[in-house]
Amino acid sequence: MNEPANPGLAAFEDQIRAADAHAAGFLAGQGRGLETAMPAALAPAWQREAVATMDAARKRDALKACRHLTNAPAPAAILVEAPHVLHCLDCYARRDADRRCSECGRLAGRLSLEGGLEDVIRGPVVIWSRVRCARCARSATAPGGTFGNG
Ligand SMILES: [Zn+2]
Ligand SMILES: [Zn+2]
Repeated sequence: MNEPANPGLAAFEDQIRAADAHAAGFLAGQGRGLETAMPAALAPAWQREAVATMDAARKRDALKACRHLTNAPAPAAILVEAPHVLHCLDCYARRDADRRCSECGRLAGRLSLEGGLEDVIRGPVVIWSRVRCARCARSATAPGGTFGNG
């Protein structure tokens, strides 16, 4: 079958690709995580739970976004402590100072191996992020984060 191309869809896909490249560049520019390709089925529990919560919020129309995001595809970040809120990349970066450990709830501290540790998973367009304080990160048996030397 010879389907006619759908210019609207192609433009949308271009926007998605641009948003995705923007997110990748942002992460690399901030030293936030190495690129790892990961099949969705192998995603860690923290990310799968955040996806489920985000999805449930979306279905009941309770998904929120910072005021900088519009309906156009744009890179966004979801923090596991509030998976029902999409952050633009600037707001995401600004949140570092007051984020709490996803395991014990204490302030995670500066995002470094000595301070807190951030795990980042980049999906299409959306960045998923959790932080852990240094103590929880060190005692974890789960695979380490992608931030810094983690
Ligand atoms: Zn924002
Ligand atoms: Zn902790």
